[in-house]
Amino acid sequence: MSTQNTLTDLTEDSPEITSRLEALTLEEKVQLLTGRDFWTTWPIEKIGLRRILVSDGPSGVRGEVWDERSPSLNLPSATALSSSWDTEIARRYGAASAVEARRKGVDVVLGPTINLHRSPLGGRHFEAFSEDPVLTAQLAAAYVEGVQDNGVGATPKHYIANDFETERFTADVQVSDRALRELYLRAFEDAITEAGAWLVMSAYNSVNGATATENDLLETPLNSEWGFDGVVISDWTAVRSIESAKHSQDLAMPGPVGPWGDALVDAVRRGDVEEAAIDRKVRRLLLLAARVGALEGVEPVVAEPVTVEDGVAFAREAAAEGSVLVGNDGILPLGRPQSIAVIGHNAKNARTQGGGSATVLPEHVVSPLDGIRAAFPEAEVGYAIGAIVQEGLAEFERDAMANPVTGGPGAHVEFLDESGDVIFAEDRLASALVYFGGDAPVGSLGTLVFETDLTMEETGTVRLGFASVGTGRVFVDGELLIEAAPEGVGDDLGAAFLAPPAVSAPVDFEAGRSRRVRVELRPQRLEGGLSHALSVTFGTEPVETDADRLIADAVAAAASADVAVVVVGTNSRVESEGYDRSDLRLPGRQDDLVRAVLEANPRTVVVVNAGSPVELPWREDAAAVLLTWFGGQEYGAAVADILTGAREPGGRLPTTWPARMADVPVLDVTPVGGVLRYDEGIHIGYRAWLRAGATPAYPFGHGLGYTTWSLSDAATDGFAAEKADVRVGVTNSGDRAGKHVVQVYAEKRDSAVERPERWLVGFAVIRAAAGETVEATIPVPRRALAYWDGGWQFEAGDYVLRLGSSATDLPLALTVTL
Ligand code: BGC
Repeated sequence: MSTQNTLTDLTEDSPEITSRLEALTLEEKVQLLTGRDFWTTWPIEKIGLRRILVSDGPSGVRGEVWDERSPSLNLPSATALSSSWDTEIARRYGAASAVEARRKGVDVVLGPTINLHRSPLGGRHFEAFSEDPVLTAQLAAAYVEGVQDNGVGATPKHYIANDFETERFTADVQVSDRALRELYLRAFEDAITEAGAWLVMSAYNSVNGATATENDLLETPLNSEWGFDGVVISDWTAVRSIESAKHSQDLAMPGPVGPWGDALVDAVRRGDVEEAAIDRKVRRLLLLAARVGALEGVEPVVAEPVTVEDGVAFAREAAAEGSVLVGNDGILPLGRPQSIAVIGHNAKNARTQGGGSATVLPEHVVSPLDGIRAAFPEAEVGYAIGAIVQEGLAEFERDAMANPVTGGPGAHVEFLDESGDVIFAEDRLASALVYFGGDAPVGSLGTLVFETDLTMEETGTVRLGFASVGTGRVFVDGELLIEAAPEGVGDDLGAAFLAPPAVSAPVDFEAGRSRRVRVELRPQRLEGGLSHALSVTFGTEPVETDADRLIADAVAAAASADVAVVVVGTNSRVESEGYDRSDLRLPGRQDDLVRAVLEANPRTVVVVNAGSPVELPWREDAAAVLLTWFGGQEYGAAVADILTGAREPGGRLPTTWPARMADVPVLDVTPVGGVLRYDEGIHIGYRAWLRAGATPAYPFGHGLGYTTWSLSDAATDGFAAEKADVRVGVTNSGDRAGKHVVQVYAEKRDSAVERPERWLVGFAVIRAAAGETVEATIPVPRRALAYWDGGWQFEAGDYVLRLGSSATDLPLALTVTL
């Protein structure tokens, strides 16, 4: 692992830090510990401290504003990254994020998200790496190194046991120490001990009775055992008490209002909180400032990014490396078909990222349809939507909008105060407006006015409206279309912000003839830390359509083409921060669509555009099934690369893919009486599937490339030192170069304690030419065999190490002795 993040010898006790700390009054110190606004910390000129700017992450860097006029590189989501099983890809991913951060003046990326895929229902599943702690830990550490080697801070989040969204602010996770140590904490560990993360984000939820920002886990193991010397930054509004200041919680975000401030100054004066506790937090913040170059007179760790590559090309490569081919009767790669029927809502309106704070606004998105058209220029490429996937309101297509004020593209937006005066105006290119940081005076907003001249490509009826919490009026060509106050979704204002309720009404359009749309909106004020945040979307909802007719059209297109490519997937209502999923089905009539297309054309490839597992009941009948997750802005180009064979699908499943939700051994994400019990202990993911004797659709670790592999001659010298090197011959037995992921699992059937049936202890990515044999060396740390019982326990005796290409395809075995 790299050591670049130790380039500086500075510690929190260095004179450069101490002298600055000593120059501060108690009030100034305490002020530093709450954000100045949504994304920045307080500058203090007299000690040469500038503000530190933090930004989401983790699949791109949004920057200080949530605004399409300041676009970001949109990388594939974490499930795609982890499917690569490739620490080099993760490192480059981190580096690409750092380059983006530097371009946007961002000092700290709020990622990676390294909670675990405990249940496939988890709303932020797409944003987290894996169900396995070792795979997560290694990839997350490489990501952190990629970010920090380029001078930007990384923030592993959310510490800890934040593996679901239901009641996320208040739920108490009851989990054993052993499961914490072997699973949930294990996933975070390497990002601290090996990559030396400069920050960690504490979660919203409680763990074993104490909320994460007041939890002793912040000190042990994080600080005391792992040697963390960075800043524990809270999740947004997760600090709720003075009590949290007594814990190893360093920075409360966002600001400027928060529970610390004057109340904390008083608490220190009264002797309730020790000033030394405040000083420690400030020292850490100053150390972070020094690291990112925010402290005058102290050299930053890295002055300029050192790893700079073409981000767009990388995004395309990473999407292909993270796509998992789970079935292929030989149809892929496609060769040069003369005609291709591209089918599916997501083929045209792909989801390239999940919803919530992870959202970034890319300059462009390549849909599968775009990608296929570009990759098969000589083929006749037809398109049919097949089934409606969208639920709720989607923003207007950007090229459908003309700004009535400038005459250019987009829309004109005005903020009126309570007396009707214009206090702010801007010209936007998109109609999804999120004010979450930035200069817009949301706090003084009375009415927001949005105006655009909207043109539709086809004559017909569209449902037009808005999504926001508040009261709104929609006018079309001066006539009132809607006056409504959409109902909020429960009392979770955060979720209302992330998925606001929508209203719409039908409007007729004539192809090419614009209509003036004007919306006047009086948003309901959000509370607390979100009082200056506003989220509103102007757009369209799907109109009632004849679903059978859509399927019939798709069938006709498929029947007359050489090949059909159906892209199925989820929508923004299904996968997002703020709520969990309630089932694993594909939305709408997509299953019926696929079945009908498969019958019409057996040469059908199904591409799955979902950030987490979905049921694929027809999967055995498809010629090929390709799982592509949320592939980032170059998604469609990567899909096309795989279809043509320009690239191999490089992915292997980082999570078990169930056939049916009913089979999933660990599913529950709903707290009961405020408590979510992780009663399954150390048995999640494939460990639980193996224990239950249940068979998923596709096992953990599975994935096909375009060549074939065999393993031979597994050997090891055993645990002479802290690790055993397992060596194995890996032969590319096919006829093209390719990638293989060799996986090593341990078993201890005769253990005196409860153990997982089998658990991942190491893996290696091998690339080899056709016919070539490469020797892979996979280090297996002794610790990987230990279990937690008040400390790491190393049980003497024999362990079986099994080698292969998934949790259930393990042709070779070795015995090692501890
Ligand atoms: C999310 C964090 C995110 C923060 C700032 C929170 O709601 O849980 O992951 O970094 O918002 O956007």
